Amino acid sequence: MPILAFFVTHYVLSIFTQTFFLHRYSAHRMFRMSKGWERFFHFLTWLSQGSSYLQPRAYAILHRMHHAYSDTPKDPHSPRFFGTVFGMMWHTKDVYLDVLGRKVEPEARFEGGYPEWKLLDETLNNMYVAFAFGTAYVLFYMQYATSPWQYLLLPIHFLMGPMHGAIVNWGGHKYGYRNFWNKDDSRNTLPFDIITWGELFQNNHHSFGMAPNFAVRSFEIDPTYQVMKVLQLLGVIDMRGAQVMRWKPEDRRAPEAAIVPEALAAE
Ligand SMILES: [Zn+2]
Ligand SMILES: [Zn+2]
Repeated sequence: MPILAFFVTHYVLSIFTQTFFLHRYSAHRMFRMSKGWERFFHFLTWLSQGSSYLQPRAYAILHRMHHAYSDTPKDPHSPRFFGTVFGMMWHTKDVYLDVLGRKVEPEARFEGGYPEWKLLDETLNNMYVAFAFGTAYVLFYMQYATSPWQYLLLPIHFLMGPMHGAIVNWGGHKYGYRNFWNKDDSRNTLPFDIITWGELFQNNHHSFGMAPNFAVRSFEIDPTYQVMKVLQLLGVIDMRGAQVMRWKPEDRRAPEAAIVPEALAAE
């Protein structure tokens, strides 16, 4: 029972901080919060992602590149150019480490507006700290595991952040339905996304990039947005003035200008 509780808690906190703090706040600035709450969620992200913590600056820059170049060769993670999810994530890791280590200079438009905290993002963001988190996970399992198979869950704990990224970036641009016509391959994978807490509404999100609610149709539910509504009521975040997503059935169709007549396409 402690193993199940630990696994679920780690999984949920890791995906929640990724979508709420790294994605919707750090990369997109869809809502506002006080410096105190920003520090609280920054620390929660560092603690819950643990051994696979993703730095807000590097995350935001890669993610802004993803929106600007979605499913083109400059996209840091498009399934269109890779045979397997592992190949895609290996490439993403290389781009991420270059940005993290400031070995490349990103386009100026992708910089700024993300939270920075030197202590967590640099001093306590290295392989020794990752190793310490990993050791803590192993010690917890040694204390509470009731069957050897449970140790098979440990690699998921070690790589929780990138694993969620892999699910979203591979699945969300490959499998599912579309509500909106847009030039990239984005899809909505699940109508009720409990696996990545709303992140798998990629087609909706790529069409309305600044809307805090990733769901738009009557049957779609974005769990993170439900939590955000509570945080808004409690005065923790301020979503007033944020973009609102709207949908009509004809949004699925390509605009006339985008349809190339067959005769022209063959030339
Ligand atoms: Zn995407
Ligand atoms: Zn986004």
